[in-house]
Amino acid sequence: MIDPVARVSVAAPVFETVAPGVLRIDSPLPFRGLKQVNLWLIEDHDGWTMVDCGYGSVEVRAQLEAAWDAALGGRPITRLVVTHFHPDHTGNCAWISQRWNLRPRMTSPEWMAGQLAVRDLFTDDLASSSAFFVRHGLSAEQIDVYNEGFILYSDCVALPESYGALAQDDALRIGGREWRVHVGGGHSPALAGLHCAELGVYIAGDQILPKITPNVSVVHWEPQGDPLALYQQSLQRLRAAIPDDVLVLPSHRAPFRGLHGRIDELEAHHVSRLDFIRALFDDCGSMTGAECMKQLFGFVLDGQQVYFAMGEALAHLNHLLALGELELVEDADAKLRYRKIRRA
Ligand SMILES: [Zn+2]
Repeated sequence: MIDPVARVSVAAPVFETVAPGVLRIDSPLPFRGLKQVNLWLIEDHDGWTMVDCGYGSVEVRAQLEAAWDAALGGRPITRLVVTHFHPDHTGNCAWISQRWNLRPRMTSPEWMAGQLAVRDLFTDDLASSSAFFVRHGLSAEQIDVYNEGFILYSDCVALPESYGALAQDDALRIGGREWRVHVGGGHSPALAGLHCAELGVYIAGDQILPKITPNVSVVHWEPQGDPLALYQQSLQRLRAAIPDDVLVLPSHRAPFRGLHGRIDELEAHHVSRLDFIRALFDDCGSMTGAECMKQLFGFVLDGQQVYFAMGEALAHLNHLLALGELELVEDADAKLRYRKIRRA
């Protein structure tokens, strides 16, 4: 997904009003598959609340200064909410916090995941994740692609020393309106979305995206985790908690309406992917994670994509494992294989 070679250009300050007192900043990303991330400004009485930080680079910080000059009307950023720890959301967190003398608000699992990642641990523990992927059958050639192309958090994210915790159902008062926190799982540990019932607006982060499906990955630190179940449960909770007629503000691509229809599509996507994998097992009986990845994505060409593609393949396999349809066995050569459980 990420191409370190592509350049971030210094864009003109791009922002637009998407709802009363809610602005969108369209911020560039240096990734092959993902060209921009949306940052949000919400007008408050004495200043503005900002949501998410953009990719950590000199160019993005210059764009933010220009956008603030044009958009804030001379008032300060008084609160920073970070939806989750991924680098396009946390990159400039330390810089924004220092620039406006504030402490970011995040859920505790996201704060801690980010702290580990910037220390080359958790998602960025390349030695452990490579060993994990080898056990799941990834070739030496693909391991090289992974290690050479993976962009580390330590290269593009800086977090401040302290934060303020956010949790499910916390209510933030911004501009006289209530914004309620809705925590989602599966894409990241505890992603914070914000729903304002009065405005009919839901800031979704990466939990719900239009056109592309949020990555749902097994992490080597929790090898038998079932993030797909967490993601599906989050979708069900969001459908029950947030009305269909909100304007959804996703982290990538344009705001859209039709939340419940999009949730239906995301659920259907994973159901059809599970059925595709079930059919593969009907034919072959057993597969490694890497063989499943190849069936789903082909040969993966860049380091970040190896991580996402292996993680996503394993997420579906582990879900079938949790459903009791597969078992995990070890080969004579110490590779792990998922095997279909044949019922009498
Ligand atoms: Zn994300």
